[in-house]
Amino acid sequence: MRTLGALLAPLLLALPAYAADYTGPLVDAHSHLPGATAIDSYAAAMKRHNVSKVLLLGVGGVQKDDAAWITAAAQKHPDRVLPGLPLPDPTADAAATRLEAELRGGRYRAVGEVHLRQVSRSIDRDPDDAALGRVLDMVARHRVPLVVHFELAGAPIDAFGRALEKHPNATVVLAHAGGGPPDRLRALLAQHPNLMVDLSGMHFQRTPALATETGPLDPKWMSLIKKMPDRFVMGLDVWAPRLFEPAMLDRLMKWTRRVLGELPPDVAEQVAYRNAAKLYRLD
Ligand SMILES: [Zn+2]
Repeated sequence: MRTLGALLAPLLLALPAYAADYTGPLVDAHSHLPGATAIDSYAAAMKRHNVSKVLLLGVGGVQKDDAAWITAAAQKHPDRVLPGLPLPDPTADAAATRLEAELRGGRYRAVGEVHLRQVSRSIDRDPDDAALGRVLDMVARHRVPLVVHFELAGAPIDAFGRALEKHPNATVVLAHAGGGPPDRLRALLAQHPNLMVDLSGMHFQRTPALATETGPLDPKWMSLIKKMPDRFVMGLDVWAPRLFEPAMLDRLMKWTRRVLGELPPDVAEQVAYRNAAKLYRLD
């Protein structure tokens, strides 16, 4: 006679294996600070949700004290903070020269966030700009990725592709997945091995979102991530003071682990941790 367990087994196998939150190692590969002391509430939330590292970036010239806040945060929480180097004006003639001096010490894990195309702020820089090309050469020489905000919708994709092609040794991380859509992103990733994608700021408070606060991971994003699991890193992209309230950080971090939990466990660990560890030199 078959036991109840034997009868239920096929049903249980039919359930997705990813129904539980992802509990493995997690890096926030893209966030910002809104002030000098915000890092403390963030570090406390990291502890609560077992987020091991955060890459802190500038917000493209909006906050003139970015660099000082990031440096102070890295000094106060050296085991958690990976400092990124802000570069407010990536198409200035002197940008690459300035980078050279800053990158020499080797303490920065990334340069950015650099805003090439952000429609809401009327920023639309030529990705194939000559000065930006020198910046790409410089980050390549120092083996530091450049985190770029470049909204793909309505963008000069060819110029973006040309810049990636001309600087094959530079690693460019497309922030917020360029806003998608996934099929356009897929073509870019297939053509450009030096392109990585961060899924930061695609949470339930923003558009496009990977998922609502309680809903499933969008199947198109899921399918792309599963096809190219070595090209994605996860991030929260917190920046405004209200996002640093403990209850909000709890919601964002819980959402992140829930969404990652929908991916096959091995893919989830790549996206949550292993890709970022390689890209941003975690030892
Ligand atoms: Zn950002």
